[in-house]
Amino acid sequence: MKTMHLYLLTGLVVFATISCSNSSARNNENNNSKNSVNMKFEKVALPYETDALEPVISKQTVELHYGIHHQAYVDNLNKLVVGTKLEDADLVTVVKESDGAIFNNAGQILNHNLYFTSFKKGGGGEPTGQLGDAINEQFGSFEKFKEEFNAAGVSVFGSGWVWLAKDDNGKLSIEKESGGGNPVTKGLTPILGFDVWEHSYYLDYQNRRAEHLKEIWKIVDWETVGQRY
Ligand code: MN
Repeated sequence: MKTMHLYLLTGLVVFATISCSNSSARNNENNNSKNSVNMKFEKVALPYETDALEPVISKQTVELHYGIHHQAYVDNLNKLVVGTKLEDADLVTVVKESDGAIFNNAGQILNHNLYFTSFKKGGGGEPTGQLGDAINEQFGSFEKFKEEFNAAGVSVFGSGWVWLAKDDNGKLSIEKESGGGNPVTKGLTPILGFDVWEHSYYLDYQNRRAEHLKEIWKIVDWETVGQRY
C-alpha cells in the first residue's frame, strides 16, 4: 500500500513538473510571436510582391501604405506602450482596453495586418464554403452584399474602415468604423476590412473612393478571408 502511494506521488510530481515546463514554454512562444528580442508589436509580412495587386492597387501605393504608414503605426505603438499596463498584452487586448493614441495605433496595426493579408495576385471571384453560404443567406446574394458593403464604405465620413464581421453565432454584419476602429471593440470578429483612408487609394484613384471600392473586390483572397469565418 505504501509503495503504491509513493508511485502515485512520484507520478503527480512528474506530471506537475511537465505541466509547469509546458506552460512556461507556451509563455515563451507567445512572447516570441510578438517579438523575439524586446516583445515589440510587429506588422504582418506581406504575402505577395509590392506590384502583385496592380492595376487595382499600384506598387507605389503598397510601398507607401505598407512600408511607411503601417510601419509608423508599429513604431508609434512600440514607443507608446512602454511602461503602461498594456506593455505585455497581445494586440487584440490592447485594442480592446486602450483609448487615445495607444488605441489609434494598435487599432491600425490590427486593421492593416488583416487588410494586407486579404489580397492576392489574381484574386477576386466569390467566396465559397461556409462564408459564401452565410453571405448568400444573410444578404440575399454576393452582389447584394457587395452593394451594401460599398455603400457603407462610401458613407464613412473622413478616414475610417468598412468591415464584414461576425458575432459568436456566426451572424454577419457590415460595420463602419472611424479612424483606427475595429469590430473587436464591439465583441465581433473581423472577417474583411477595406481601408477608406485616402492614403489607401488617393495615388491611384484620387478622390474617387467609390471607384476604388468597386475595383478592390478583384484582388480579394477569398481562401484566406473565408478561413476567418
Ligand atoms: Mn491604411
